[in-house]
Amino acid sequence: MKYIKLFLIIAVVSVFLTATYFVLRSTFRPARYAHVGEWIRHPEDHQEWASTALASCDDAPFVFPTNGFIGFLWGDSFRIGHGHQGLDIFSGTESGVTPVYAAYDGYLTRLPDWKASIIIRIPSDPLDPGEQIWTYYTHMADKSGNSYIVDQFPPGSFEIYIEAGTLLGYQGNYSGTPGNPTGIHLHFSIIKDDGQGSFLNELEIENTIDPSPYFNLDLNGKMNRDIIPICQSEIN
Ligand SMILES: [Zn+2]
Repeated sequence: MKYIKLFLIIAVVSVFLTATYFVLRSTFRPARYAHVGEWIRHPEDHQEWASTALASCDDAPFVFPTNGFIGFLWGDSFRIGHGHQGLDIFSGTESGVTPVYAAYDGYLTRLPDWKASIIIRIPSDPLDPGEQIWTYYTHMADKSGNSYIVDQFPPGSFEIYIEAGTLLGYQGNYSGTPGNPTGIHLHFSIIKDDGQGSFLNELEIENTIDPSPYFNLDLNGKMNRDIIPICQSEIN
């Protein structure tokens, strides 16, 4: 009897804590997160949320790499201890349709086993001349891993010089798990150099750079929880 009571108390407390966790989590989730689902379902109703490929906001160093809504920002957190390392730009179109372009001049590499990703070395950071940085583009394949990267850049491509605006491929939904694809988007990030001429591990936010000043947009998720980042001068 004693044990049944104890068990019941533990069960009630667990249910209460779980419910509190979910209530708090939805209360403190940025309002922007809810816009991602709404955009994917009804992009035609919210075209004012979209940024335009190849535009540069107020003479920003980088051109915008694709069309779509920048739903998830640098520094957004999807779970405890997690920080999003880049931008997720959702096209609102089918997979394999929306072009992805290079944001800045540099040297393109695609490792032999990369189905959906390319990386571009920028020898001199336009905002910190002399420092080498890298730009990373991913999710350019369908859910089964059929690549949407253009034929000029096959697996094993190494240090091919390309200019800003070069077509790289198309937005896709490849996640690595065919049964669980992502929403159709481009993930774009700026990665620090390791000091030996290679790039650091992109999966750690500490190894990446806040892209805001490169695009002249408010792209820091910690500071811009609820706004929709778009170029103000493009609207006016
Ligand atoms: Zn992402």
